[in-house]
Amino acid sequence: MDFLPIFLDIRGKKLVVDGGTTVAARRVERALQAGAHVHVFDANLSDEFATLMSHENLTHHARPIAEADIAGAVVAYGASEDKARDAILHKGAKDAGVLANVADVSEYCDFITPSVVDRSPLVIAISSGGSAPVIARILRARIESLLPAGYGRMAEFLGSFRDRVMTVIKGGTERRRFWENVIDGPAGDHFLKGDLDRAEQHLLNSLDEATDAGALIDKGEVFLVGAGPGDPDLLTFRALRLMQRADVVLYDRLVGDGILDLVRRDAERIYVGKRPDNHTMFQEDISALMVKLANEGKRVLRLKGGDPFIFGRGGEEIEMLAEHNIPFQVVPGITAASGCSTYAGIPLTHRDHAQSCIFVTAHGRDGVLDLDWDVLTRKNQTVAVYMGLSSLKILSEGFANHGVDPDTPAAIIDNGTRPNQRIITGTIADLYQKATDANFTGPSLIIIGGVVTLREKLSWFADEQDSNFSMSLIPKGSL
Ligand code: SAH
Repeated sequence: MDFLPIFLDIRGKKLVVDGGTTVAARRVERALQAGAHVHVFDANLSDEFATLMSHENLTHHARPIAEADIAGAVVAYGASEDKARDAILHKGAKDAGVLANVADVSEYCDFITPSVVDRSPLVIAISSGGSAPVIARILRARIESLLPAGYGRMAEFLGSFRDRVMTVIKGGTERRRFWENVIDGPAGDHFLKGDLDRAEQHLLNSLDEATDAGALIDKGEVFLVGAGPGDPDLLTFRALRLMQRADVVLYDRLVGDGILDLVRRDAERIYVGKRPDNHTMFQEDISALMVKLANEGKRVLRLKGGDPFIFGRGGEEIEMLAEHNIPFQVVPGITAASGCSTYAGIPLTHRDHAQSCIFVTAHGRDGVLDLDWDVLTRKNQTVAVYMGLSSLKILSEGFANHGVDPDTPAAIIDNGTRPNQRIITGTIADLYQKATDANFTGPSLIIIGGVVTLREKLSWFADEQDSNFSMSLIPKGSL
């Protein structure tokens, strides 16, 4: 390690900044956030200073810094972009024993300024030792997006129990384990969900148990998580977080392989989709299995394609959990209509074509579709049909028989958002024939309405129909 990372307490202390540049403004802003009394030296301050000037802890001196100004400061920043001034600042700092940092002049730097992710009181500082600040900045952006904003507040909340926990659990290792369970367990979850009362209750219960038995027993929980239509990049942060906490995962065919790879490695996997004998596990059996596993104290991940509450029977699956008082949480996902249409370059609404959009399922029983044709055949509307491939023939005939123009544009998106996405477009008159020729494997989504014509202009996702060359441009689900 070339540098020692430390966090400096500068509250109420003097800090000087020479220069009125944008970089100077950033240094001033950070120092004010950390509670310092900041003196800035320059006749001309850049626009970025406008919002800082009224700060009570900022003093402006409309001249360059002099050596004598540096005495008594904890840190001196140079950001004037003027070599002579940098030299004065550096010499003054050395003579006064003050830590100096001059932007872009490494020989004048006692320390480097890290890239910062601020979730105060939680702060993450990243440094590449000055050799590749861009990498540090990119990494910062990634951490920024991975870290729920609530973690900062959680640190504060947990901090208020610190003394209490310290008195009850004496051993350092035991205490660390206790906090890990709290942060990564139901208490942390409740907190991030915004339920502070339950978070506190959980924490205190765990603390009681820790005193009595020395062991922590957690009741299990179920996470009903929408995994989106296939591209792992479409998962939400919350989905990913819970996927990495699961002890056991129940999944079915709609969940893509790339997504399953992101579930915690040690989690047990149980397939609850269609079996080779074409027999699907009954809904009640799946619910009963979840109740059983949760009662064993496990964190059960029920991973569903798309959104769990859209044609996903998510509601039915958790009803039994509620009846058995099993704690659960639900994470919404990007539903097939939204994901597939977007990856096909077909906006579901558009001022010239459709002011509304309707999602229906055409899962026909015995060749009969129980659909409300008055609603489906409304003008200026997009219809997105789930589970419609096997009923496509009667579906298209139904539209024609209910007075819809046979030339109405329509599309089928097969394996939407995945590298093997395939799309055909046509009209309600010829879609069935085209789909038969294309030999789709499913899952497939049907879109009917004028918006389909926009695809010609708006298509952007390189799918299987494109050349091999563009295959390499497919946005990858890499994490
Ligand atoms: N809960 C899911 C839908 C489950 S019903 C959601 O919100 O998306 C299953 C149907 O969803 C499939 O028959 C198909 O019509 C559609 N579907 C799901 N994923 C799809 C995909 N990647 N491409 C095309 N259609 C998809």
